[in-house]
Amino acid sequence: MQDSLRERWDGVRERMSTACAKAGRAESEVLLLAVTKVFPATIIEEAYALGMREFGENYVQEFERKRPLLPELPGARFHLIGHLQSNKAKKAGELFNVVQTVDGPKLARRLDELGKPMEVMVEVKLSDEESKHGCDPAELSAVVEAIRGCANLKLTGLMTIPPWDEDGAKSRPYFARLRELAAAHGLAGLSMGMSNDLEVAIQEGSTIVRVGTALFGRRQKA
Ligand SMILES: *Cc1c(COP(=O)(O)O)cnc(C)c1O
Repeated sequence: MQDSLRERWDGVRERMSTACAKAGRAESEVLLLAVTKVFPATIIEEAYALGMREFGENYVQEFERKRPLLPELPGARFHLIGHLQSNKAKKAGELFNVVQTVDGPKLARRLDELGKPMEVMVEVKLSDEESKHGCDPAELSAVVEAIRGCANLKLTGLMTIPPWDEDGAKSRPYFARLRELAAAHGLAGLSMGMSNDLEVAIQEGSTIVRVGTALFGRRQKA
């Protein structure tokens, strides 16, 4: 029989709390972001009913479709964790509380111009995979500066996606690098770690783990 969402949520929280204990960190330091991309709006309601409050979506258009299907969910926050094109910044600003994937000054300015207080993170590209987005580490200082000059944006930290590998330990150098970059810029937030490597991420200082598969099961290809 398939595990219920409640059981899988318990399982993920158990993994997180074990990893925190091993790392000598408080559980309250690490936020669980429930990644609901590809799944229907009803799964967000189901997760909310259990007590989840932070949700991650990858595509502006997909969430634009799903959002009107949801009732008011007081206290819920929605994070954009997929690449954002400048021309979709306005829509993203309307739909999301947090944009974790700011990758350049132009996008930062577009979000700032919306005139709405917004929390943002900078996505940093630490691998040379073609498919990955994010700002080059060499340009990070400039992007951070630009965001700090935006009155409506609150920069909370950095986000990265290492190359996918079944062996989560392979992510470690990427996570360590992100932590160093964040420290060098006086940033406390680190969005790193997914279903397969959240323990390693927590050891390396993650403050937000983004978990899809371990909570909701396998995704159909979009
Ligand atoms: C899909 C996705 C996740 C969740 O990945 P899982 O392996 O299903 O936990 C996390 N972060 C980003 C940026 C994603 O696109």
